[in-house]
Parts: sequence; C-alpha cells; structure tokens
Amino acid sequence: MSRNLQQAAVLVVGAGIMGAGIAQVAALAGHDVMLYDTRAGAAEQARDKLGSTLDALVSRGKLAAEAAASALARIAPAARLADGASAGLVVEAIVENLDAKRALFRELEQLVDASAVLATNTSSISVTAIANGLAQPGRLVGMHFFNPVPLMKLVEVISGLRTEPEVAAAVFALAQAWGKVPVHAKSTPGFIVNRIARPFYAEALALLLEQAATPQVLDACMKAAGFRMGPCELMDLIGHDTNFAVTNSVYEANFYDKRYQPSLVQREMVAGGLLGRKSGQGFYGYPDAMPALPVAVHEAPATAREVVVHGAGALADHLERAAAQALAAQGWGPARARASAWSGLEIDGARLMLTDGRPAFAVARSAGVADIAVFDRVYAAAPAPGYALAYALNEGASTPWRAQAGAWLAALGFTPLEVGDAPGLVVARTVAMLVNEASDAVLQGVCTPEGADSAMKLGVNHPRGPFEWLREWSVAGVIDVVAALDAMYCGDRYRASPWLHRRATV
Ligand code: NAD
Repeated sequence: MSRNLQQAAVLVVGAGIMGAGIAQVAALAGHDVMLYDTRAGAAEQARDKLGSTLDALVSRGKLAAEAAASALARIAPAARLADGASAGLVVEAIVENLDAKRALFRELEQLVDASAVLATNTSSISVTAIANGLAQPGRLVGMHFFNPVPLMKLVEVISGLRTEPEVAAAVFALAQAWGKVPVHAKSTPGFIVNRIARPFYAEALALLLEQAATPQVLDACMKAAGFRMGPCELMDLIGHDTNFAVTNSVYEANFYDKRYQPSLVQREMVAGGLLGRKSGQGFYGYPDAMPALPVAVHEAPATAREVVVHGAGALADHLERAAAQALAAQGWGPARARASAWSGLEIDGARLMLTDGRPAFAVARSAGVADIAVFDRVYAAAPAPGYALAYALNEGASTPWRAQAGAWLAALGFTPLEVGDAPGLVVARTVAMLVNEASDAVLQGVCTPEGADSAMKLGVNHPRGPFEWLREWSVAGVIDVVAALDAMYCGDRYRASPWLHRRATV
C-alpha cells in the first residue's frame, strides 16, 4: 500500500527540545499537530515557547505574521495520548530509553489507525529493536532530526529489519516536503552521522593521549582544512559527557570493536566534571574566548645551494611559486622534479615532504636521509598566508634542520605547527579515517556514498562529504595513511575498508 503523509495530522510525543522543534516544522508545513508529553504542562509550555519563537521570526522579517499565527493555531497540546488517535503520523521524541519507547509504541498501536506511520527520533537505539513486539513492525521507521530541528536540514530516514520500504519512502517524501534533506539509512549503531563522525573526535583524542599536539594546534589545523570548528572546541561545545556517551554507545553496539574505543583522555575529563562550555571548563576555559594560538617565531631560512620542488599537481605548483618568491632575494629559483614519487621540497638534500601517512622516522629510515620533516595535507589550491600546517621532524634530524624545516614552511607562507611524529599527522589522519569509516558504512549497506556526503555536510557541517574528500585525494592515498596508522599502532583499530581496497588502482 503506498502511503501519502502530506496531509496527515501529526502527533508529536515528547515536548522537549526535539519534539518542540519537530512540531514547529510540521505546523509551518501546514499539518495539524498534536503535542503530548507525560510531564504535566510541558506541551502547553512548548507551544507557548514556539509562539515566542515564531513571533521573533516575524519581527526579523523571516516569516509572515499570518503564517506564524496559523502555524501556532495548528498546534494543539494533547492532555492524553488518546487525544492524538486521529494522527496519520506519530513522531516520537521521548526519553532515549528502549523500554520506554517500546511501551509507548505498543500503546500507540492500540490508539491510532492501522494505516498510521510510526516514527522514532531516536539518536542511538536500534529501530529494529524498538519495532520488536509491535503487531505491525513494518510501519515503524526512524526519522532522525538534528538539533536545532528548524535549522538543521538533515533527516536520517532509518529502516529497521522489518520497516516496509513504502513507509520509509513516505517519510522520506514528507521530510522533503518539510524543506529537509532526507537520507536513507539502515538501522546500525550511530546510523550515518554519529558513526562516520567518530574519527573526527577519536583521532584528535588519540593525538592528545600521546601528547603529539595541544588542543589549540589540533583545532587550528582542522580549521585550516575547512572545518568550521576544530574537534576540541566542538567537543567542548557538545559537552564531553554527551560526546563520551555517544562514543560509548557506538563502541558497545559494535561489540567493543577497537575502532570505536572511547578515549582515556575524555573519560578523565568527564570524571572530573570538565564537561566543556556548560561546566565552564573543558579543553578551554569559559566564558573566555579561545586563547590565541602560540606560534613559534621562525627566522628566514639559511642560504641554500639547491632547492628542488618535487611532485606534480596543485600543491607542488604552489610550493614552486612560494619557493621562487622566498629565493627571489638571492637571485635564483627552485628546480622542479615533477616525476618524483613524493611531493615537497628538497633543500640541499634535506626533505620537507607531504605526508603519505608514514611518520618522519619511518620515511627517514627507508630513504636513508636523517634530515626529514613531513607536513600535513593542505586543503586549498592556493593556501591563504598563515594557513596553519602541522609538521613533524624525524627524531634523528640534525639541529640545524630542526630549525630549517619550520623556517622553510614559514617562508612558504604557512604557519608551521610542530607536532609529534605520529602517522598521518592531524588532517591527513582524520580525513583518511572519516573516509574509511564512510567506506565501511557503504560496504555494509548503511547508506550510499551520496547519502554519506549529504549527511556529513548537513548533519555536522563538515566542509566536504567523505567521498568528496576521497575524490580530491586517492583511494591508494587513503589506504596508505590507514596502513601507516596500523603499522604504528599494531591493533585492529586501523583497518582499511574492503570497499577501498577493491577500488584501489595499480
Ligand atoms: P528532552 O529531554 O528535551 O525531551 C524529552 C521529553 O519527553 C520530555 O519533555 C519528557 O517529559 C518527555 N517524555 C519522557 N517520557 C515520555 C513518555 N513516555 N511519553 C511522553 N513524553 C515523555 O529530550 P530531547 O533532547 O528532545 O530528545 C528526545 C529524543 O530525541 C531522544 O530519543 C533523543 O535521543 C533524540 N534526539 C535528541 C537530539 C538532541 O540533540 N537533543 C538530537 C537527535 C535526536
């Protein structure tokens, strides 16, 4: 039976942060909305608050006064759950607890028409599990909104094992009609966004654990790569308790797969009440603004005899231009070795190399050159002056080269930030693991590559989707970084996805 929810009356159960937002969106889209909450007065309070929100939108010219008034008039607080019996769609946004959700849906099944669709806004519980025990489990689907609901475009439409395809299709079409961008997902731990986003936090926490970088350096590097917020400031904003709970739930739900293992760094912060902005202290202290990034002062590079730019492509072209500028005062320019196997600069035999994932010490050993520094991936065709770039030195590098590596990066227009000699540095490591996680999600049929890209850009504001990062890089490049991480940490955390292996070209 095909279902059309476009005219359906909507019952929203749970009038908290999410339920109120869902009621707002549904009412503005023209639906009659009933709002029910077990807490006495909560639905009325939510409706009153919505009235103020809509008034504010009107006074800012974002909404016509009549539209606001009619939307508000369409929202009716329900005194009893049974008052919502006429609903063609129920959206549940109650407490995140399996038993509570199961009990609610069982009760709802007795109240609403057999054709009504039941949707859950759960962020972490299996949709299959919530449906278990229902007389009609096929009509239960996940409709996962993001906070704040009126602003966030993404809706993950989650199918459990028994969800009927036409139910998922009807909710998908409805989300589109509500001005959202829905993405189909299979019910698996973390669905799309909360799963693929894990490495954004996990790799930063792993680098912090081994003291490879400070939170400020990590944030500066990731923001230079285009992320709106760095991982540490974002964890401070989300709250370490919430972030830790999501990580734990994905970890447990994956049978304690090491890939999702939570961090000791974060557990200690949660235990100590350093929850981020809400507690006044996380990685940073609040309400102060973020402290300025301490940046080392670099002298101009020492006079060199020979500078060669290695590699082809936009980065090498940029380095060639920047090196030519840096050398102009000495009256000569760099040579170019386009066919080289690596990208970067060779300065009198010392190497400043774009990371291929291997730490500087490993590159030094295989090249038989001690004066090696590796630098992070650059995400800009022409990086703006001051672009924050992580680099790491080979432990055995000479004292002069230790100063020269940073001096050269500064002369090339970057803000060089020295980090510990960890595989994949900061950006390459994180992006490779985001791509890898997304590849496994696609391998397991959780979503399509296009779905993953939309979800990550719209659900957590990533500047690019994982498969967009991949297109700009290469399958082999991502596998190399994951393999370098695996070689260093020798566990089963860093496993390149079979989806990637199958696509690697020789
Ligand atoms: P909330 O605590 O703000 O609101 C939950 C509301 O549900 C409360 O008003 C509570 O009184 C009510 N409630 C509890 N049990 C009930 C029941 N049996 N029947 C009716 N009402 C009941 O929570 P929230 O942040 O709005 O989250 C609601 C759901 O949405 C959870 O499943 C959560 O995981 C999910 N979610 C939350 C976010 C977020 O960022 N807050 C994002 C996506 C999904």
